Amino acid sequence: MASFYLQGPAIVRSFALSASSNGSPATTQRVGPVVLELPLAKIRRPLMRTRANDPQKVQELADSIKEIGLQVPIDVLEVDGVYYGFSGCHRYEAHQQLGLPTIRCKVRRGTKETLRHHLR
Ligand code: ADP
Repeated sequence: MASFYLQGPAIVRSFALSASSNGSPATTQRVGPVVLELPLAKIRRPLMRTRANDPQKVQELADSIKEIGLQVPIDVLEVDGVYYGFSGCHRYEAHQQLGLPTIRCKVRRGTKETLRHHLR
């Protein structure tokens, strides 16, 4: 097993490579979180209606993001190819306000059980 790192903008992406034992081509398996630019529209936010953002915080973040860009990606959970966001609500809304089509996300994979845990 060999691992290597790709340098993204101030973020380290980590992957692991593994070769199968039957001689078929090596497959790439993601083991840790990866940082991706995702379309805002692709991130489901199941708790959005139950939690209100602080409008002043959103405005300050929008101003800062416009000036220096997003410095810390939001955390996103991927379950069966569907992306869910439970935090980073102010950064997400700041992106919406700025009309940005995508947002930088730290994506980790989870199971339906992980998702149920977040929805509790
Ligand atoms: P959120 O609901 O998005 O987590 P918070 O106000 O709780 O909002 O936290 C804002 C976060 O956004 C902080 O962790 C801060 O480090 C991060 N951040 C990322 N990019 C910026 C930026 N350009 N200016 C200010 N904060 C930023």
